[in-house]
Amino acid sequence: MHLHFYVGYQEDVRYAMEGSMTKSFYLLFILIFLFSCNKKDQDKVLNELALGDSSKTESPVKDSSSTVDLTTQDVTNSALPNEALTFESNLLFINTTSLQEEKFDRAVELIKKVVGTDEFRSAVLNHTYNGVKTFVDNGGLTNAQIYERILEAAEKLFPLKNNAMDMEVQLYTNLSSNVVGYTNSGTKRIYVNTKYFNVYAANSVAANLFHEWLHKVGFGHAYTYSPSRDYSVPYAIGRMIGRYATQYL
Ligand SMILES: [Zn+2]
Repeated sequence: MHLHFYVGYQEDVRYAMEGSMTKSFYLLFILIFLFSCNKKDQDKVLNELALGDSSKTESPVKDSSSTVDLTTQDVTNSALPNEALTFESNLLFINTTSLQEEKFDRAVELIKKVVGTDEFRSAVLNHTYNGVKTFVDNGGLTNAQIYERILEAAEKLFPLKNNAMDMEVQLYTNLSSNVVGYTNSGTKRIYVNTKYFNVYAANSVAANLFHEWLHKVGFGHAYTYSPSRDYSVPYAIGRMIGRYATQYL
């Protein structure tokens, strides 16, 4: 198994020191934005809010389509976005017993707990590959944009930014395979091998669910193993979920 560690704590300290200064700057910027946006933009913000949870009304400026720069800076420098705390899931289970569903439910609860932490946000934002803050196969996105994509949770086949994992989960059994789970781009469904599911702790089930779901959001990785594949979005962030979830087991 390939283990790697995350650097960037110095940056965290710097952001913390700059926090109070930048906060007032951003507040001013947000106020200017709110007062200067036209009716159409306001409708857009309201529509997006109407689609989501009412508790998200505190952060209308996170509408990435109208404030891309602000969103990126906001995620990097300020407090945990509200969307990290309201992250939800709508999973439809196929071929599962109630006991198996309970295990998936526990895994989903772990995912929500981890996504709702500064630790997870910091790990995504500060993830490095070859000394650069980036992911392999990042689709041209920065770490902050990848974090934003996770919180938006707009699956390719269900492209609504609803802050929730939407997918179907089907169990199958292949004892001679070393595949933990798989999916393909033409389906909302992910397939999970009972060979591993049955023996995995809930945090490992969570890691696999999140890995497959990151494919649904559009992130890929090399088909065959190479050391760099561990730094792809599904592998690296799936493992973050599994690792940080152990504290909630
Ligand atoms: Zn994969």
